[in-house]
Amino acid sequence: MNPAQVDWGSLQSGIEGEVWLPGESGYDGARRLVLKQFDHVRPQAVVRCRRAEDVAEAVAFARAHGIPCAIRSGGHSFAGYSTGTGMVIDVSGLDRVEVGGDVVRAQAGVQLVDLYDATLRHDLAVPSGWCPTVALGGLALGGGIGLETRKHGLTVDHMLSATLVLADGRTVTCDEQHHPDLYWAVRGGGGGNFGVAVEFTFRPVPVGDLLDYRLTWPWVDATAVVDAWQRWAPDAPDDLASVINIGVTDAGDGSEPELAVAGVWHGDPAEGERLLRDLADLAGREPSSWSSAVRTYRATIMNWFDCGGFTPAEAHLVGHNPAAQIERYAFSLCRGGFFDTVVPTEGLKELLAAVTGRPFAGQRRDLNFIALGGAANRVAPDATAFVHRGSRYYTGYSADMDPVVPAHGPEAARAWIDGAFETLGPWWSGRSYQNFIDSRLADWQQAYYGENLARLQRVKEQYDAARFFDFPQAI
Ligand SMILES: Cc1cc2nc3c(=O)[nH]c(=O)nc-3n(C[C@H](O)[C@H](O)[C@H](O)COP(=O)(O)OP(=O)(O)OC[C@H]3O[C@@H](n4cnc5c(N)ncnc54)[C@H](O)[C@@H]3O)c2cc1C
Repeated sequence: MNPAQVDWGSLQSGIEGEVWLPGESGYDGARRLVLKQFDHVRPQAVVRCRRAEDVAEAVAFARAHGIPCAIRSGGHSFAGYSTGTGMVIDVSGLDRVEVGGDVVRAQAGVQLVDLYDATLRHDLAVPSGWCPTVALGGLALGGGIGLETRKHGLTVDHMLSATLVLADGRTVTCDEQHHPDLYWAVRGGGGGNFGVAVEFTFRPVPVGDLLDYRLTWPWVDATAVVDAWQRWAPDAPDDLASVINIGVTDAGDGSEPELAVAGVWHGDPAEGERLLRDLADLAGREPSSWSSAVRTYRATIMNWFDCGGFTPAEAHLVGHNPAAQIERYAFSLCRGGFFDTVVPTEGLKELLAAVTGRPFAGQRRDLNFIALGGAANRVAPDATAFVHRGSRYYTGYSADMDPVVPAHGPEAARAWIDGAFETLGPWWSGRSYQNFIDSRLADWQQAYYGENLARLQRVKEQYDAARFFDFPQAI
């Protein structure tokens, strides 16, 4: 239907939320994602839902008028799949969290900082991620990797139920007993595929103080440290969370990348310190700095959110609330994959050399290694739709430009990251993380879903045969 002929007023009168149309004062704020690189996309309408019934109305309206839909919770999709030229169904306003007994009930729009804030009041956490403004809606459907992954598993491993508005307008709750196939699929099948998630329940984990650590080494030691780390972290006791961050602030000024191994230890602090000593000994290189301290869980997670000193209200994107302090990202790309085996030294040298290759002024570059193993890998690959259970770690490159994106910046960043991604080729498992969605991945079906793909396709056929929910990498 011609967009001009759509009677949006009739949708507005049927919902508690708002319908934002081009030209209206709230439209630009409502249409934007977290990454400014998608600011050129102009949806026909953004429907800000306040309740599950609003979502059902929006789905019915879009279906009746033949308008394609994109679903949005936190707007962090690296491929921009939470916007489009049709209707955006935005559930960011569904952001309630209730902690009752041993269950956390959380709506899909809740952002991680608010989820932690609510559960930590009860000394509980729902294992999730380390970005404050990522929302459950996207994160929980695709996996959820963070500080608790090795100790307790992924977000999907704690999901007891999910409530979704389906393409046919029904609102269903799936769990072990009800719609078990859908319940299997939403635990790792990825956002946007089966319906609009409006609410989840989770089994939280008890949390206490943590050893929060960060060790740095000079760049000359990088191969030895990464080699030691890849043998150490994935096989360490579950109490360890560990990440290598290799970063260069400006890839054009010739400065050496900084190398840090950071993470937390959930157990006895003295034991954690001994384990860190083992890493330094294994690398055969003394860290140039060693910082480790026992902190409260709240202080630790705010630190990992890069929001140390912020209140939860401040740890939001500007515009979310009057106190919010975080700016949107100008431009960001990421590409990477899961690694199942130890990479030989020659391979590591290539991975590391890629960080400084193709210099370009104004690009921030990072190479991250995130340790897996532990509890996340004790779940069978077909127990949930999250297939990557044999991985030792995730390795990913990212390129950011903030706040200024120079001319040719995006093109240069793509050229660099594609080249860097190629260096993973001989070593990675061929699997990528569906939540770090990568629009340039050739065989994305296999990369995200592997042997779970066929079952996911059957669930898609069962719940959305007409492919009402569709986007370039939809199942
Ligand atoms: C800066 C940054 C930091 C990150 N940190 C982490 C991390 O620590 N750990 C981790 O595991 N991941 C992390 N991610 C990846 C993150 O999990 C994914 O980008 C996730 O999809 C974001 O969810 P969202 O709701 O914020 O984004 P959105 O862009 O709103 O959604 C992402 C996808 O899910 C779909 N979707 C969103 N809401 C719903 C819903 N309610 N129902 C059905 N489909 C929906 C969208 O259509 C889209 O395809 C990070 C991403 C960024 C950009």
